[in-house]
Amino acid sequence: MMVTCKKYVLVKHFEGEPKPSDFVIVEEQLPAIKNNEILAEAEYLSVDPYMRLHVDSFPTGITMIGIQVGKIIESKSSKYPVGKRVVGNFGWRTHTVINIEDEKKYSMGLPHNYILPEIGDLPASVGLGVLGMPGNTAYFGFLDICQPKAGETLVVSGAAGAIGSLVGQIGKIKGLTVIGIAGSDDKCQWLKNECGFDHTINYKTQNVDVELKKLAPDGVDCYFDNVGGDISTTVMYQMKLFGRVSVCGHISSYNTDINAKPKTTILQPAIISSQLKIEGFIITRWADKWQEGIAQNLKWIQEGKLKYRETVTHGFENMFNAFAGMLKGENTGKAIVKV
Ligand code: NDP
Repeated sequence: MMVTCKKYVLVKHFEGEPKPSDFVIVEEQLPAIKNNEILAEAEYLSVDPYMRLHVDSFPTGITMIGIQVGKIIESKSSKYPVGKRVVGNFGWRTHTVINIEDEKKYSMGLPHNYILPEIGDLPASVGLGVLGMPGNTAYFGFLDICQPKAGETLVVSGAAGAIGSLVGQIGKIKGLTVIGIAGSDDKCQWLKNECGFDHTINYKTQNVDVELKKLAPDGVDCYFDNVGGDISTTVMYQMKLFGRVSVCGHISSYNTDINAKPKTTILQPAIISSQLKIEGFIITRWADKWQEGIAQNLKWIQEGKLKYRETVTHGFENMFNAFAGMLKGENTGKAIVKV
């Protein structure tokens, strides 16, 4: 089958907020597949914060990085039959020819290019969210690092996003009191009404310092940090003795000049006086347990204990808008593009 694919080529490294002119959409005639190769057609593509952060380490001229769920429409690999869906590190492109057996390996440190596990009636897009990298980031990054105990208080920033919304719910499953910090009243309503968060703070309209003192007067045991910056400083100054902080991301500074020294905040008084344990992580740490995280999150979904939401943008030509919108907080839950 001869197919023409569309792909986003990075023509300029980002300066501040990504711009449409940082990309061009290019058409590419794909070759016929050979032994062990498949032809995959993108169904869902993921837009994630790491793309803003990491693409600068790649040269211009590359196809924009990213994970997708693609349907295998032609195959010369018995292990990857036509009709199956593959979670592939293929980039922002509509069609991909790949020697899947050679490249069935860790890409970007993660076990990509695998057949989407059995997910029952759920849409295949969950392979990019709750049953993919963000789901595993929430599961391992929270439980392994925060070591939460029932009765403790958990604060999650970026709480209504792909990872944060799951962290808070896992906190509820483990018996914690959960406070989510997010950027709109609608997001806060969703967290409380559907995700079971105990309390929320809208950081755009409320004073996080004042509200947190009211909601957690005895202090915070666990903090899952997706955003960094002032929000995180505020939370860390309200931690309890021996509190634990899992540092997942710092999206509040992703659009700043990477060559400029970041603004520093003096956290040492809080860290020392509360004897905090603060640990950063990269999800690749749990690559060997990948399917374990997916299986547990799936079980919780099936038991009705874990809710997920996706903000779906339609059309491959709207990839950029979905990406830029996610960075600005237009998504609730996982930001996905449906081709
Ligand atoms: P989200 O779905 O949470 O989307 C990003 C969200 O960030 C937006 O919806 C927006 O929500 C919020 N945001 C944007 N700007 C700011 C700001 N200035 N201050 C506070 N919040 C802001 O993304 P993910 O769940 O995919 O990722 C969450 C974090 O986890 C990111 O920092 C990401 O880089 C990190 N990450 C880390 C990994 C690791 O291995 N360490 C792996 C994967 C992700 P709002 O409306 O609330 O502002």
